[in-house]
Amino acid sequence: MSSSSLRFALIGASDIAATRVAPALRRSGHEVVAVLSSSVERGRAYADANEIPDAASDLEPLLARDDIDAVYVSTTNELHCAQVLAAAAAGKHVLCEKPLAMTLADAWSMVDACERAGVVLATNHHLPAAGTHAAIAGLVQDGAIGEPVAVRVFHAVSLPERLQGWRLTSPERGAGVALDITCHDAAAVNAILGRPALEAAAIAVSQGPWSAVAEDALMSAIRYEGDVLVQTHDAFTVPYAGSGLEVHGTEGSIIARDVMTQDPVGRIVLRTKARESSVDPSHREDLYDHTIDAFAGAIAGEGLPIVDGVAGVRALAVAIAVKEAAESGRTAQIAWQRAAAAA
Ligand code: NDP
Repeated sequence: MSSSSLRFALIGASDIAATRVAPALRRSGHEVVAVLSSSVERGRAYADANEIPDAASDLEPLLARDDIDAVYVSTTNELHCAQVLAAAAAGKHVLCEKPLAMTLADAWSMVDACERAGVVLATNHHLPAAGTHAAIAGLVQDGAIGEPVAVRVFHAVSLPERLQGWRLTSPERGAGVALDITCHDAAAVNAILGRPALEAAAIAVSQGPWSAVAEDALMSAIRYEGDVLVQTHDAFTVPYAGSGLEVHGTEGSIIARDVMTQDPVGRIVLRTKARESSVDPSHREDLYDHTIDAFAGAIAGEGLPIVDGVAGVRALAVAIAVKEAAESGRTAQIAWQRAAAAA
C-alpha cells in the first residue's frame, strides 16, 4: 500500500458504493474498512457481498475509530448533511454524494463544518472528472468558440429497474429528476462556463410507466452571467436518445455526444468557419478513480478536489432553482453567493 493510501468507511450500503465507488477506491490503492447501514442484517450481508471487513449500524462509534481516515457518504440525500457534520466533527475527510443536501442552508453548513474542522470535502459529481468534459472546458476557456452564448444538455435516460425506488416515490429523500440529473448537468455546465448561474425556468412532468410522486422528466432554461442561455432535457423515461452536450459560441460550436454518462466514452467535434474537426477527448480510465485520486491528493496537500464542497453547493443551487421554477411555474433566482456561516 502506498503512503497516500487511505482507510475509508462507507456511510450507506448503497448501489453506487457497491457498483462504482468501492471498486474505484480499491483500484486507487485505498482500503474499505467498514460500511454503515441502518439495518444490522443488511449491513452484514452487504459487507460480505462486497468484501468489507466490518459492518456498523451506529455512526458515532464508527467515526470515533482511529483506523478510518475518510468517509464516503452515499446514503439517501436527506441523510447527507447530518452525517457529513458528524464526520467533520470527528476529523474525517469527506467524499459526499450529490446532491450534497436537500437545502442550500444545509449544504453551506457542510462546507463550513469541513473548513472549520480542517478536513477536505469533495462532491462525487463524476462528469467534471471525465476527459471529455475537461477537453470541452479547455476549448471554451481557450476561446476556441469565441464568446459562449448557449449550451444544450441532453441527459434524458432510462432509469434502470434496480434504481426505481426512492428516486420516484420519496420526495422527502430528494426524489425526482431535478436533484438526480439536473444537479449533474449543473456541475458540468458550471465547470465549463466558469461563471455564475442567475435564474431558471422549467416545466416538469411525470410521464413514466410507474406511479411516481416526483417529476420523472423536465426541461429547463437557465441564464448564466453574460446572458449565456443553457437548456437541459433531463428524464428517467427516454431509453434511446443517447446523451450529449453542446456549447455554442460567437466563433464556433462544440458538439459532444454520449458524454453525460458514468463511463469514459463519448466524442467531441469542434465546428468553426474554417473547419469541422474531431477533438481528442483524452478519455481517462475511470471517472470515479479520477475523482478519488484528486480527493486523496487534496488530503495530501497536493491540488484540489475536482468538485469541492463549494462547487457541490452551486450545482445544488441550480437544481433547486429548476425544481422551484417547475413547481411554481415562475422563473426562480439561483442563490449562487455563499451564505454567511452561522455563528
Ligand atoms: P441506494 O438506494 O442503493 O442506497 C441508499 C440507501 O438506501 C442505502 O444507504 C441503504 O440504507 C438503503 N438501501 C439500499 N438498498 C436497500 C435495500 N435493498 N433494502 C433496504 N434499504 C436499502 O442509493 P443509490 O446508490 O442509488 O444512491 C445513493 C446516493 O448516491 C444518492 O445520494 C444518489 O443521489 C447518489 N448517486 C450518485 C451517483 C453518481 O454517479 N455520482 C449515481 C447514483 C447515485 P442503509 O445503508 O441504511 O440500509
